[in-house]
Amino acid sequence: MRFDLISIFPQFFAGPLDHGILRRAQEAGIAQIHVQDLREFTKDRHRTVDDRPFGGGEGMVLKPEPLFEAVESLLGHTVGDSANKVALEERTAILLMSAAGRLFTQDTAQRYAGLGRLILICGRYEGVDERVAQHLATEEVCIGDYVLSGGELPAAIVLDAVTRLLPGAVGNEASTVNESFQRYEHTVRKIAEGPGALLDFPHYTRPAEFRGWKVPEVLIGGNHAEVAKWRRHMAIEKTRRNRPDLMFKPDDSPAGLR
Ligand code: SAH
Repeated sequence: MRFDLISIFPQFFAGPLDHGILRRAQEAGIAQIHVQDLREFTKDRHRTVDDRPFGGGEGMVLKPEPLFEAVESLLGHTVGDSANKVALEERTAILLMSAAGRLFTQDTAQRYAGLGRLILICGRYEGVDERVAQHLATEEVCIGDYVLSGGELPAAIVLDAVTRLLPGAVGNEASTVNESFQRYEHTVRKIAEGPGALLDFPHYTRPAEFRGWKVPEVLIGGNHAEVAKWRRHMAIEKTRRNRPDLMFKPDDSPAGLR
């Protein structure tokens, strides 16, 4: 799968791309990750990427021209109002990182992992000229209900969540199946009909006793059926306690595969 990150701080990604699964997935050719410097797509001497907001107010706004130029040079053709259709045909999604976007979830990551290419646009300052959301991006993506100072961390988060779902990226394939947020139908944890997801069950490793706290007996007994039952029970308990909303979470249906 190919990823293109568009940012005014291309060096920002050096750390995240250089470690663990993201690094190995690139080495194994599972993920091709390219970082584009937005300023390369400016035409003026000062390489201007931002300007003052129409209507007044604080801060600066990322201009549309360099962002359109950057994406179009990556795609090899211009986009207009047909951006969504073109992207769909090419199994490409053009994502604008935006606090005002739709919430990114494990379902979204699964959907993206089925595509061939993701182009991720990182905003800065007060945000991005709205025409980018309207006519260039196929989706606006928010990684959580808080405001960050730029789209680079959000883009790195999307990149990480999607890459680890690509076949072969994680050593033991099973380890991306029984995880937090996986829906019942994908797991052995089904507890009820309808949509919903559970958090992961608790994990323990050696020592069997640490500062007087013992590992639950059932995990040491070697009875696999009992272990499976206990894990399911604990996953349900933890979800009830920490994230009851997940148990009846509506589907992130790929409506129009946006
Ligand atoms: N004025 C905007 C915030 C701008 S923050 C607002 O109130 O919605 C600058 C940039 O950081 C944004 O353009 C976006 O690319 C990124 N960003 C900030 N918070 C984000 C979040 N929760 N999810 C995704 N991107 C975010």
